[in-house]
Amino acid sequence: MKFETRAIHKGNHITDNTGSVVQPITLSTTFEHGNEAGLLYTRAGNPNRLALEELIASLEQGVDAAAFSSGNAAGTAVYQALEPGSHIIAPDDMYHGLHNSMTILFKGIHEVSFVDMSNLEAVKAAIRPNTKLFWVETPSNPLLKITDIRKVAEIAHENGAILACDNTFATPVFQNPLLLGADIVMHSSTKYFGGHSDLLGGALVTKEKNEFWNKIRTIQRVGGAVPSPTDCYWLARSIKSLAYRMKGHAEHAMVLADYFLAHPKVERVYYPGLKNHPGHEIAASQMSGFGGVVSIQVKGGAVSADKLISELHLFANATSLGGIESLIERRAAVEGPDTLTPQNLIRVSVGLEHTEDLLTDLDQAFSKV
Ligand SMILES: *Cc1c(COP(=O)(O)O)cnc(C)c1O
Repeated sequence: MKFETRAIHKGNHITDNTGSVVQPITLSTTFEHGNEAGLLYTRAGNPNRLALEELIASLEQGVDAAAFSSGNAAGTAVYQALEPGSHIIAPDDMYHGLHNSMTILFKGIHEVSFVDMSNLEAVKAAIRPNTKLFWVETPSNPLLKITDIRKVAEIAHENGAILACDNTFATPVFQNPLLLGADIVMHSSTKYFGGHSDLLGGALVTKEKNEFWNKIRTIQRVGGAVPSPTDCYWLARSIKSLAYRMKGHAEHAMVLADYFLAHPKVERVYYPGLKNHPGHEIAASQMSGFGGVVSIQVKGGAVSADKLISELHLFANATSLGGIESLIERRAAVEGPDTLTPQNLIRVSVGLEHTEDLLTDLDQAFSKV
């Protein structure tokens, strides 16, 4: 079945006699011993979570998926599953919440090298005898850097390590890292999967059910950072429209990227769909669309960037991305003093409002900067 069809039908199991078209929410936290479904207790498994996991595994073309209560919980489970003393190679501009997980929670437990993953020589130079995990995020947040997943997978496997890919920005609509050589895919379901800025969630998907995956499952079950049945229900519901939302996000992002490129008050535009983006060709070889996030550097520094943001009406000045509503944010202000993100960089999560309305709003806001 094609992606759109799987997104609507996978995991949706009706087991009662009501003729419901949609699988209901099972709120019970416990299940009678000896039940046919083999359910025990909802932290270990719940019909709505199992449905969601089957759906996400299918969309990423993996053999199994594990749902977590947030993207950070999902990523953290991967680092926790490594043997203590492991070395991780991670992007120098990775999502700051997971950067914090590595540097704060695993301080003294694992070693981490942060490198420019778009530079394969730098990746190779960072390898140590105890390197166990390569972590990539492509496109990256917020610089939309592109990493060659196939090449990094080869390097990881040649060195006895695994490759995990944060696929939050691309979504399985546009990129399937497992088919490109990755072993694990991670998602913040809070973003495009949920798609309406009203759900927190995360997921991991695996290419193989192996010992490492068993550890992840144990961390999920014993650690207990699991989503509620209600959250799983709403997430599965949102995913049904994912393919169509992503097509809209990517189409609108391209319109805005072209607009910014031509704008005299914009210093630089970051969007992998633009021919002048340094990762454009690799992006085109591993993605079928370029996503819905565009970053720009505004002329006049942080002051101009803040002024532009404050004059916009349709773009909410808020963190996060992937919702149907457009969001805008000056990332350096959120990432704190150690950030490598330029001070005048604005990240735009392009929503599904009509592009003419978005451009009209941008025009009036730029005219006041
Ligand atoms: C938001 C985000 C995360 C973290 O997910 P949460 O659901 O906020 O915990 C991880 N990676 C990327 C790329 C993100 O955008």
